[in-house]
Amino acid sequence: MNQTKLTKNRISKKAASFTESVIREMSRVAAKYDAVNLGQGFPDFPAPFDIKEKAMEAIAGDHNQYAITWGVKSFRDAIAEKTKWFLNLDVDPETEITVTCGSTEGMIAGMMATVDAGEEVIVFEPFYENYAPDAILSDAKPVHVPLYQTETGWHFEKDELRNAFNENTKAIIICNPNNPTGKVFTREELEFIAELCREFDVICFTDEIYEHIIYKGIRDAGEMTRDNPKHLSMAQIDGMNDRTVVINSLSKTYSVTGWRVGYVIAPPDITSAIRKVHDFLTVGAANPLQHAGAYALSLPEKYYRELQKEYQSKRDFIVPVLQKNGFKCEMPQGAYYVMTDISDFGFANDVEFTKFLIQEIGVAVVPGSSFYHDKSLGAQKVRFCFCKKDETLQAAAERLQNLTKKI
Ligand code: GLN
Repeated sequence: MNQTKLTKNRISKKAASFTESVIREMSRVAAKYDAVNLGQGFPDFPAPFDIKEKAMEAIAGDHNQYAITWGVKSFRDAIAEKTKWFLNLDVDPETEITVTCGSTEGMIAGMMATVDAGEEVIVFEPFYENYAPDAILSDAKPVHVPLYQTETGWHFEKDELRNAFNENTKAIIICNPNNPTGKVFTREELEFIAELCREFDVICFTDEIYEHIIYKGIRDAGEMTRDNPKHLSMAQIDGMNDRTVVINSLSKTYSVTGWRVGYVIAPPDITSAIRKVHDFLTVGAANPLQHAGAYALSLPEKYYRELQKEYQSKRDFIVPVLQKNGFKCEMPQGAYYVMTDISDFGFANDVEFTKFLIQEIGVAVVPGSSFYHDKSLGAQKVRFCFCKKDETLQAAAERLQNLTKKI
């Protein structure tokens, strides 16, 4: 037998320092045990027919070669137009937009384009799990600021945030509406963050992929009203337009998570750096799907109102089911997740509990620890998603009734 001589580490220190995505792993485990998958956040209902039709037409119409690296022109124009009516922001499609392979690539390309080795990036915790490997891959030093779960939602302490900023801080990442907590940052909170960004000359990466999923009746949400839940972007805050990188995507708003089409809106100097990184990482996002994206972003306001209504009713169904079955949680204000406290079930940790829930009850979730850098902080939490058909949520509800009986 040939013996290969191994004298070097074949795996880079960077790659060795993080694990595979727990969120995506949960989808594979759910399939193995035939569990109802309330883990990974993707819809199990069909994408809108007209959007799919536009994609099919684009393929038939031979938009099948590379698109312009930073995005099909009609798609960038549609992004600029929608940003104007939805956020009242003027964005130049020629110099301020980069189309990426999902918001995932948008975030990593954005960080690689702006952050130098050792520079600090502030991340609220719990955080969407991608941000940790993003920091490692871009050589950033993550600095975590806790979000605390209270009866009025998730909050940060102003002093703690202020203390996290220093001369070496390059950027802060926010996800608003937030995955995994469902928090919607108030105008006052955004203004406080903005003030610090200006004082310390810091860039704000704002992941806004859930911008259309905000619920009515949220408590303290700045200018949003009960009947008109409306997104407030960091880019709209005074003095932030020229230091904000907005990450967005078709995935959640149009229920096409598998298309991998995202976009980044940033000032021209940052955009031109992002475009270079993006070019050599991926060359570009799928051409025909960007054509369909141009159509999707031109949909009338009614589309978004209906999407909001759908998710509102799913949230209002599933959260009381979870509360009734022993999970401690509040109604999320936005996005389609609910982070729950499982301490009443008496399990050693979230991973053990998740295994039990998948194998014995038949419902898959994401262990809370995957949203924390210090795993012990999430050891008594699990995240449910509810971007699923009503019958899927119903099936989960039925299975969850067995929970207390089986423990
Ligand atoms: N954003 C979704 C989640 O948090 C899906 C993540 C992914 O796998 N890309 O579940």
